[in-house]
Amino acid sequence: MLYTEFGNTGAVVSRLGFGGMRFETPEKIDEMAAVVKHAFDAGVTYFDTAPGYCDDKSEIICGKAIKEMKKTGRPFYVSSKTMEATPDGVRRQCERSLERLNVDAIDFYHVWCLVQPSDLPERKKKGVLKVFRALKEEGLIRHISVSTHLELGHIETMLEEGEGLFESMLLGLNIQNHHLRYAGVQAAAKRGMGVVTMNTLGGGILTKYPDHYRQIVQPGDASILETALRFNLSLPEVTVALVGFRNIKDVDETIEVVNRFKPISPSGIDAISEQMRSLYREFCTQCGYCRGCPQGIPVVRLMEAYNRGMIEGMEASLKHMHYHWNSTDVPAVIAACTQCHACEEECTQQLPILARFEEMKAAYEQMQASGKGMED
Ligand code: SF4
Ligand code: SF4
Repeated sequence: MLYTEFGNTGAVVSRLGFGGMRFETPEKIDEMAAVVKHAFDAGVTYFDTAPGYCDDKSEIICGKAIKEMKKTGRPFYVSSKTMEATPDGVRRQCERSLERLNVDAIDFYHVWCLVQPSDLPERKKKGVLKVFRALKEEGLIRHISVSTHLELGHIETMLEEGEGLFESMLLGLNIQNHHLRYAGVQAAAKRGMGVVTMNTLGGGILTKYPDHYRQIVQPGDASILETALRFNLSLPEVTVALVGFRNIKDVDETIEVVNRFKPISPSGIDAISEQMRSLYREFCTQCGYCRGCPQGIPVVRLMEAYNRGMIEGMEASLKHMHYHWNSTDVPAVIAACTQCHACEEECTQQLPILARFEEMKAAYEQMQASGKGMED
């Protein structure tokens, strides 16, 4: 395992972090807690979770594992988050997380989900930073952190808005979007902040379609997992790269990769980033930030199906909707769309979501016209 100092916080953490957002069977609390404990026993010391992850079970799973981890006396660090926008809401959610996680203090507590440049100024106006400061003074949180999907210069502006309170930043960064986020990573590191990357594997997309990404696997790497993880860990400003583990097999496979880690040179990073940009920029990472459609349209599911369509053809995306999401009639699913563009504005990948709806609709109509069914 690799370890490093976490910005100026004084903590020393494992460079591989446990992302608690992809548990395979979150309803099986004990089984999933064993996955967390397994990673801890293998040397992982940074654990990231949040309310709402995995049907709101992730904090409970981590809390169960933490009970066991405490007994070892070995150090570990817990990260959680709140997107509450009022002081009372933040405090309530923090207290709930403390209880569920079985800790007296959350090591890294995040102002969560800053997607629009206006998000932090608005929450600040409502007193969110003040309550974070108070929680730290009361010893309920140890470090104030920020979690964002902003891009380019917006990240530095957000850090400036943070009044010097932020000690670490969590942001989505991987071989697909490095060009949009790396300047922000550098800005955070310059401030002495720890930097944690989420979506290290493109929200699971990179490893889900290994054949599709074969071209990007670097010589000597066993898989796209290895290339993607080496990519993030080779960025000197990145302290921890999170991987969302589903099961013990994922943990073991990833730790093996970390244990044989060889850094990629800066010119190699630029070359991979450029290659990805030209080959695969159109993929939805399933980050979920477009989830709040006012019409209740399942944008994330539709874009997940579209991902499949990009690899296997649009009919495959419709069949995926049918088998995976139990939604056969795509035009009916999107019929209520008012074209308000809110989902596109939220999209962290800046995807043309509405145009994709139209493509899926056209593919559906074509299938209907040709008499093909979903089972054909
Ligand atoms: S554009 Fe359509 S799908 Fe997107 S948020 Fe608005 S109503 Fe929902
Ligand atoms: S469409 Fe965009 S915002 Fe929605 S899940 Fe995909 S990448 Fe995230």
